[in-house]
Amino acid sequence: MHDFPEKFKSKVLNDSFLEGEILLNALNTNSPTAIRLNPFKQKVELEGMSLVPWCNEAYYLTERPIFTLDPLFHAGCYYPQETGSMFLDFVLYKLDIPNEPIVLDLCAAPGGKSTLISSFLNNKGLLVSNEVIQSRAQILKENIIKWGTYNNIVTNNDPKDFGKIKHTFDLIVVDAPCSGEGMFRKDPKTRTEWSEENVQLCASRQKRIVADCWESLKSNGYLIYSTCTFNPSENEENVQWITEELGGEIINIDTDLLPKGRNAIGNYGLPSKVNTEGFYIAVIRKKGEQTTLNSKKIKINDKTITNFKETTILNAFIDTTPLEIFQFKEHLFGVKKEFQELFFQLKENLKIIHFGTEIGEISRKGFIPHELLPFSILINNQLTKIELNKQQALQYLKGETFSLTGEKGYCLITHNNQVLGFIKHLGNRFNNLYPKEWRIRMKIN
Ligand code: SAM
Repeated sequence: MHDFPEKFKSKVLNDSFLEGEILLNALNTNSPTAIRLNPFKQKVELEGMSLVPWCNEAYYLTERPIFTLDPLFHAGCYYPQETGSMFLDFVLYKLDIPNEPIVLDLCAAPGGKSTLISSFLNNKGLLVSNEVIQSRAQILKENIIKWGTYNNIVTNNDPKDFGKIKHTFDLIVVDAPCSGEGMFRKDPKTRTEWSEENVQLCASRQKRIVADCWESLKSNGYLIYSTCTFNPSENEENVQWITEELGGEIINIDTDLLPKGRNAIGNYGLPSKVNTEGFYIAVIRKKGEQTTLNSKKIKINDKTITNFKETTILNAFIDTTPLEIFQFKEHLFGVKKEFQELFFQLKENLKIIHFGTEIGEISRKGFIPHELLPFSILINNQLTKIELNKQQALQYLKGETFSLTGEKGYCLITHNNQVLGFIKHLGNRFNNLYPKEWRIRMKIN
């Protein structure tokens, strides 16, 4: 076990708010394992599930299973998540958020908060999930697609790019990169990376990130700020700075479930007080005159993208009713009807890596469905399905092909009645269409 850095220890022991000795002891115990279920997919029952009190459909587990070996994990039926982070759910239900909100999750990879926000939104409004690091943005895209909702955009941008999109979001979540003191329990190796200089560096980077996106938040819109660290520089002091320098008011979340922060600013998941790792969350409401988006119709300049009207040929594969279907060259994708103009407006300013619902291609041979289509909750349930046992399902998720009887054509592969992906059946064998980059690489006996 790695010991705590001396300077960290003395800071914590001198901080009466943290009750240092008790916190340090708690950080040396095992961290809890928990999952949050996907309300849009098959219900999952795992060993020893007990409710997390501050989040819908969230459960502690008595043991940490090998998630990679569970096909339903790959199908997006649940997301393993730190329980402190799940407090975001409780906060969202406390706020006065419009019915069809436009939401930005600015530091979103790997997608824990974004999938939680997606469940909360229940396909209402629009969720833009952004991650600045390219490789992490791909993991974010995978988790968003597997969650199955159809009101998402995934972007790979620096926070300052959002400054160009004025007064657009009703809610911005900034789950900021931080010094990670709250990870000292789950991953003791991270203790060796802590330094006072890094805390200060993180604190100023966090201010910059919030300042960069502030212009894109509507007046009276909410900014939810969170970290997984305990020190005041990255938490309460930053929240105070945001309110004073950028113009916001702190919104108190009335609850006894998670302790209040210093000076009652924000709430903490402190492992010495509640069964979490380490988490801090605060809500700020932007002050200012009510701003409305330019009401004149936004002109779609992109002539390469056209409306696709012959949707009847798609109906065998997908419920297109909530979507406007577009064609780019031979590629078809669906965008939520109410938000198509906003989609195009964002596209002019951002590097979009996932845009609505991937539907397929129109080729000379006819319609070819996209390999990502089976993950959408809009997939047509009447498509031919082939149920696999666990061993076969894992083989499928590894990208293997094996002998299987069935009708020729596109079929959905299922396990426990949950769709895992497509195959193209050729009679007594099949082409495995599970996305290559998502395949299980672990050796399975
Ligand atoms: N919200 C995520 C979730 O719940 O799964 C976890 C986000 S993690 C705490 C912080 C994220 O910020 C990381 O994905 C990291 O790559 C990203 N990040 C790092 N430096 C950044 C910067 N300068 N601006 C914006 N994001 C940054």
